[in-house]
Amino acid sequence: MEIKVLLCNCKGLCPSFKNSDMNTLPFQLESELEVKYVMLHPMTCGQGGNQALIDVLRSAGDDTYVISAACAPKAQGKLFAKILRTTGFPAERFIMLDVRGTDNEGILNRLKQTIEGLLKAPVTAPAA
Ligand code: SF4
Repeated sequence: MEIKVLLCNCKGLCPSFKNSDMNTLPFQLESELEVKYVMLHPMTCGQGGNQALIDVLRSAGDDTYVISAACAPKAQGKLFAKILRTTGFPAERFIMLDVRGTDNEGILNRLKQTIEGLLKAPVTAPAA
C-alpha cells in the first residue's frame, strides 16, 4: 500500500487553521508517518488545486490511497465529486479527513489514526 497526503489550509485565511504551521507540517508528517509524500496546496478546491488533485489521482497506482486532509468530509465530498467521477479514481481509496481546529500535533494524530486504520484494514471496493 502507498499513501499520499494532500493537505489544504483554506488559503491560509480560515481561522480553523490558525494554530497550525503549514510550512513545517508537511516534513513533520513525512518524517513521522508511513506516507510516500505530503503535498500542500492552499486551495485544493480551486482551479490549480483541482488540477494538482487530478494529477495525483491519475498517476496513482492500484494500491495507492490518497488522503485529502482539509475541511469537513461532507464539504469535500461535494467539492471533489466531479473530480472522482472524471478521473475514475476509486472513492474507497480517496479518504477525506477533517484537519481543522487543531495544531500540528493534532493533525499528525488524526492522520496517524487514519493511516493505522488503513494499514490494519484497507478499504476495498465491494465485490462485483
Ligand atoms: S478544500 Fe476545503 S479547506 Fe481547502 S480551500 Fe476548499 S473549502 Fe477550504
